Formats: sequence, structure tokens, C-alpha cells
Amino acid sequence: MNTIAENLLKISQQIRATERAVDRPADSVRLLVVSKQQSGQNIRDAYQAGQQAFGENYVQEALVKMEALKDLPIEWHFIGHIQANKTRAIAEHFAWVHSVDREAIATRLNAQRPANLPPLQICIQVNLAHEPQKHGVVPAALLPLAQAITALPRLTLRGLMLINPEHLSDAESLAYFRQLAALQTELQQHGFAVDTLSMGMSEDFPLAIAAGATLVRIGSAIFGKRVTVIK
Ligand SMILES: *Cc1c(COP(=O)(O)O)cnc(C)c1O
Repeated sequence: MNTIAENLLKISQQIRATERAVDRPADSVRLLVVSKQQSGQNIRDAYQAGQQAFGENYVQEALVKMEALKDLPIEWHFIGHIQANKTRAIAEHFAWVHSVDREAIATRLNAQRPANLPPLQICIQVNLAHEPQKHGVVPAALLPLAQAITALPRLTLRGLMLINPEHLSDAESLAYFRQLAALQTELQQHGFAVDTLSMGMSEDFPLAIAAGATLVRIGSAIFGKRVTVIK
């Protein structure tokens, strides 16, 4: 087994073990492998080891790798910051977008989603730490954005996404993860059928699973250090 396959197996086993430890149903947490700044060959190795869903942050970099990997039925997720001039490429090439944080972007993705593809699966990125340089909606703006996205026929609102600030204590990370879970519950109480909590990365995914994550986004724990930089 190569290192990527070994790491993938190890992380999958940790996810399953954490589900059991916190009394979550088996297989209630999906693994999204984050392949930003990783080569197409690394993605191919992970695919051959059984992984089908990959997350990318940079549109140009992703398009190059998609072309090289077009023989594989990969499910591509866009998890990076969305610039307005990149929405067409995102709408045409990805199955999921985790980082929608404003209505203007949602409107563009809806208009540009090709008619022959299924609706784009959307998570709203939430900013809980109020870090000024970070993206994401503040909780007070969440409900109106959820309403706007739900009204767009080529988008399907699936849930919420969170990137925690770096260097938090476990208690602080857990508190943010629980806040995101509470916001999901609030949306459900307002009638939104949101089933996805996209939270947890290499350093903190067990805490995210304890708080209710349904999808963890893991890069460096599988691929090691990021290398290529194509933006
Ligand atoms: C890079 C990235 C990840 C993965 O981070 P690792 O620490 O390498 O697991 C997850 N989510 C987003 C949004 C990222 O940009």
C-alpha cells in the first residue's frame, strides 16, 4: 500500500472510531479529501484507494487537474473563496460549493449552472469568530441568505460550512462546532431541509464529529505537506 492509501485507511478508521465513541450512527460522517496544492497523481492514488470526493480551493488549479483526471468519475467540491469572475467555471465543473456567503454569488451560480447537470449542492459558509479578514456570513445574516438560495431552482441548499480560526484550544474549537450545529437546528426549525454540517479538518475533525459534523474536510493528514501552488 502506498502512503496515501495508508493515510486514507487510517483517517477513515479514525472517523468510524469517533462515530462509535460519540454515539453517532456508523457512516454518518463523510470524508472529503482536500486536494488543493496536491498533484493530479496524488488524487489518482487516493481515488484508486477508494476515495471519490475531493475538495479544491483554487479554480484555475482545479480545472487543470480535472482535465488530467477526466477519466475518473470524481465528485468535485469547491471549498475556497469565490470570486465573482470565477462563478461560471465553478457552476460548470463542480458538484458542490461549500463557501457561498452572499446572495450575489448564489444568483450567479444559479444562472450559470448548466441545464444538463443536477442542481449545484450548496453550503453556506458561516463566520462565527468574527475574524474581519475571514469570509462567511455572520449568524444574523444566515436566514435571509438561506431563503434567497432556496428560491433559486438550480441550487440545492444542503447546509452550513465552518473554518475555525487557527490555534484554538480544544474547548474553543468544540464551542464553535456546537454553535454551527445549533444554527443548523435553527434552520431546520424554520423549515429548511439542511442535512449537511461541513466542519472539521486534519487537526480537529474528531471534535467536529463529536459536535455533529456530517462531512469532514481533510487534506494534510492524507497527503502530507502541500506542494504545488497554481492559483
Ligand atoms: C485546506 C483546507 C482544508 C484542509 O485542511 P488540512 O488542515 O490540510 O486538513 C479544509 N477546508 C478548507 C476550507 C481548506 O481550505
